[in-house]
Amino acid sequence: MNNKSQGVLIILSGPAGAGKTTYAKMLCDRLDDCVMSISATTRLPRGNEAHGKDYFFLNEDEFKQQIAEDKFAEYAKFSRNYYGTPKLFIDKNLSAGKNTILDIEVKGASQIKKTYNRAVMIFLLPPTPEILIERLRKRKTESNEEVSRRMDIARDEITKVNEYDYFLINDNLEKTYSLIESIVKADKYRIRGGEIDCWLGGRKSEDVLRIQD
Ligand code: 5GP
Repeated sequence: MNNKSQGVLIILSGPAGAGKTTYAKMLCDRLDDCVMSISATTRLPRGNEAHGKDYFFLNEDEFKQQIAEDKFAEYAKFSRNYYGTPKLFIDKNLSAGKNTILDIEVKGASQIKKTYNRAVMIFLLPPTPEILIERLRKRKTESNEEVSRRMDIARDEITKVNEYDYFLINDNLEKTYSLIESIVKADKYRIRGGEIDCWLGGRKSEDVLRIQD
């Protein structure tokens, strides 16, 4: 009987092509009680991205208004746009016992860790630096200028890997997924405080753990 009432907050970070979104979706498909946070951003929608499904697409004024109203658990500027995680969503789902997944960049991840110190931070990279370059360049959705900005950011982001709890290389979909799933499942049993009270069922240990006459 563990104290499992609180969900696990899982942060997935890493540059494009590392598979963050794929793994976040797999976790939600395969595990019960898993939800993925939908961020707000000032970036324009790409391809068939939809408001409220992939992101909440806001203009800069709307985004700043939400900052002023303290609506974000974290926010950061990435390339030329703002991205932020809605605070209410995280708090509501964690207290409902749901594993809550954030696919966010490194500056936001470090803010989250300060507020939610039990967050599990996972950093993902594609198999080799060459594959990272190829994946960034092959994305047809961004201009050359944007690709090169994202490359600069990737160079910077990989220097932050030591701030994370786990480092995984996305070299095999099922293998990497099963490692992530194991991390999430194991974390559910990390000591959070209150485990023994839970086991004792609200009784005092001296009342329970004694030989009856
Ligand atoms: P993209 O524009 O490719 O969708 O996302 C760019 C980067 O922003 C990715 O590294 C993604 O993980 C990150 N990102 C997405 N949502 C958030 C968020 O709410 N907060 C932060 N800090 N980063 C985010």
